[in-house]
This record gives sequence, C-alpha cells and structure tokens, in this order.
Amino acid sequence: MKINFTTLGCPKNIVDSEYLLGGLQGADVEFVDDPGQAETIILNTCGFIQGAKEESIDAILQALELKKEGKCRKVFVTGCLSQRYSQELAEEMPEVDGFYGNRDMGQILSELTNELDLRREILGERLLTTPSHFAYLKVSEGCENPCTFCAIPAIRGGFKSRPVEQLVDEAQMLVDKGVRELIIVGQDTTIYGRDLYGERRLVSLLDQLCDIKALRWLRLLYTYPAHFTDDLIEIITDKREVINYVDMPVQHASDRILQKMGRKAKRRDIERIFTKLREGNPEIALRSTLLVGFPGETDADHRELYDFVDQMRLNRLGLFTFSSEEGTPAHNFTDHVPYHIMNERWAELNDLQNQISFEHNELYLGRTIEAVIDEYQESSGCYIGRSSHDCPEIDNSVIVRGSGLQPGAFCPVEIDDVTDYELHGAHIR
Ligand code: SF4
Repeated sequence: MKINFTTLGCPKNIVDSEYLLGGLQGADVEFVDDPGQAETIILNTCGFIQGAKEESIDAILQALELKKEGKCRKVFVTGCLSQRYSQELAEEMPEVDGFYGNRDMGQILSELTNELDLRREILGERLLTTPSHFAYLKVSEGCENPCTFCAIPAIRGGFKSRPVEQLVDEAQMLVDKGVRELIIVGQDTTIYGRDLYGERRLVSLLDQLCDIKALRWLRLLYTYPAHFTDDLIEIITDKREVINYVDMPVQHASDRILQKMGRKAKRRDIERIFTKLREGNPEIALRSTLLVGFPGETDADHRELYDFVDQMRLNRLGLFTFSSEEGTPAHNFTDHVPYHIMNERWAELNDLQNQISFEHNELYLGRTIEAVIDEYQESSGCYIGRSSHDCPEIDNSVIVRGSGLQPGAFCPVEIDDVTDYELHGAHIR
C-alpha cells in the first residue's frame, strides 16, 4: 500500500508523525513523498494560528481533489486542526475518511491500522522524518500557562511530562540509529517533571542525556522565562553536550502588555536571565520570539519593545504578528491594533534584527567554527550546514565549500564571508 504522510506545523507534530509512521511501517506499506502517487494520504495538521490553519485546510482540499480524480482512495486527517475543529471539519468535509485529534497516538494508530486493514502491533518506535543525524525529543505534552493569546492549552490539553526512563531510552534508541543532535521540545520545557515528580526535573534529565555516548549536541527549545532556574543556567554553562544555545520565547517587553498577555515574567526578569546566561557563557546564542500588535499595544509599548530588541541584541529572533484566536481570552479584547500599524511595527523590528544579525555574523569572519553538514546543494556545489548556534528549520545556515563531506559530519569551517543570516566558509581538512 502506498501511503503519503504529510506533516504540517511544529517539531511536536513531527514527533507525533514519527510515532505514527513507526507504527504503520511494514513490508506491506511503502511511504511515498508525492501525494499524487499515494493510495492513502494522511495529513498531520496544525491549528495554532490563522495562517497555519489555512495552510492545513489547503492541504486537505488538495488531497480531496486527488481523491475526486480517483488518484487516491482514502484521506485521513490528524493533528491540531482536527483536534480543535473535528466537528466543523467533519460537517464541511464529509469526503475525508477519518478525523483524528492529537491526544493519543496509540489510539490514532490502532484506528488507522484498522481503517487500512493493516495487521500491526503498537511498536512505539519512531520512524524519523528529519535527516538521520538530528531528531526532536518531545519531553512533555500540553501547557497550563495562562497566555491570553494562545490556543495551545485548548488544543493540546494540560501539561503532561513523559517519564525520564522513557525519554532516556528513546534518546539512546535515536543515538543508536545515528542521531548526534537531540533537540529538546515541549510547550514549556522548563517545568518538565513538575506534574510527574512534584518538582522540576529538566536539569537531571539533561544530565542523564549527557551520559549517552556519541551524542554531540543537546539543544534546548521552548523555555519559559518565569520558570528558568539558576541550575539550568549552570548545566548549560558546565556541560559540553548541552550546547551554548537557548530558545526562550518572551513575546513582548512592555510590562503592561506582558501582563495583558498573561505572561508571568516582567521585562527586568527576562533581561536578568539573558544577562546571567551571557555572563556564564559569553559565546551563548540567545533565541527568542516576539508577538507584535497585541490588542492595546500603543506606540509607547512598541517603542519599549524596539528598545529591548536594540539593547538585548539577541542572536536569533522570530517575529510574529498577533492572530486573534477564538477560544482565547485575547480574542474578546476589543482594542485591536489595525493591520497596517501591526505590519509597520513588524517591519521596523525586522529591519533592526537584520542589522543585529549581520553584526553578530561579522564577528565570525576569520574564525574557524564547528559546523554540522545537513545536505549537499547541487545548484551551488556547496554543503548546507549549521553551527551550534543554529537550530534546524528556524535559524541561520553555514554554507561550506569543500568535498567528500557527508550529511551528519561535524567539521571545522573557516568563515570568510557573511550575510544577515548566513556564514560562508571553507572546510578545513
Ligand atoms: S507557554 Fe507557550 S504553549 Fe503555553 S500557553 Fe504560553 S504561548 Fe501557549
């Protein structure tokens, strides 16, 4: 049976897909990249914000078009969009053979295998969809933080940590398969373990993962400022495997807006953590995410956000404009910022960050850094890689001139040119 499995959305969705793929794989199944070649299409959707929802709906409509043309027989939809809107979707798209949520991968797998008449035991081993040298490790599901703009708690449910033993076993299994970079994900990784063990266990989890031989890079994403502790700063500083990189979405810098967003940390708390991280590890790369145009955001609030970006000079920054999501408290706020103002503010911050990113990159000129090779680019004759400061898919690239390099190779690269978001250099043999 030819199955096309398409994943939309975030790394947490990727991990869910890899479980389903791991459970579906077998001698009687061939996974095909082209939906047009598939008998069955499975879509793992995203339902976080407007843009992502539209992308997911477009993908479903395209799959149904193939079904109408008789090119595929069955279309199944899983993930956040169908978790959030299963009833509405089932009414509007009765041609879809099944809508499954995102809560219980085992349940979804057994329903899918029944539907597809596949004889399967629930294995639980993941089939990686990322290049084989890096993988995401999802340490928890759901979230209970009260961010007023966010639909995740409604989509993914309450915060639920996975047992340490299960995570260490999974990490070992991934490393045995060739993974050398593990990327720690969850909605709020900083409170990992609190629900299960009555205390936070992220530091001890990282400590145990560092004992896995052959693992090179442990990357920490989705940390929450109000839950960022000194012992976490310590392990990032002390443990070589826990790389000098932290992703901490802070969303804004005006305390008035942070309070309206339901965020627990104030600007000074955020700056204190970033400063402490830099004091402990001057080479660290700090990544964050900001939300522009939140209801009630005044020019003064925007100026404060601009000054924060200008002062903190973060290494990596994701900028998003506010999306009013039904079911969230912010959806009922009335003082919405007009789109043109929102986009102007976004553009102003984006220009500033382009400049800051270029300045950070200039510091690499003439230096030799360690890069991991992700792929060879036929068109340029170069390799596309990343430094330890670059998370796959969302950060910068290192463009490497050289030969005989394989994906997954860690190699020294001498940097001789930079752009806003790229480092260029030659592989040093
Ligand atoms: S911490 Fe993140 S996932 Fe949780 S509610 Fe806030 S924005 Fe949403």
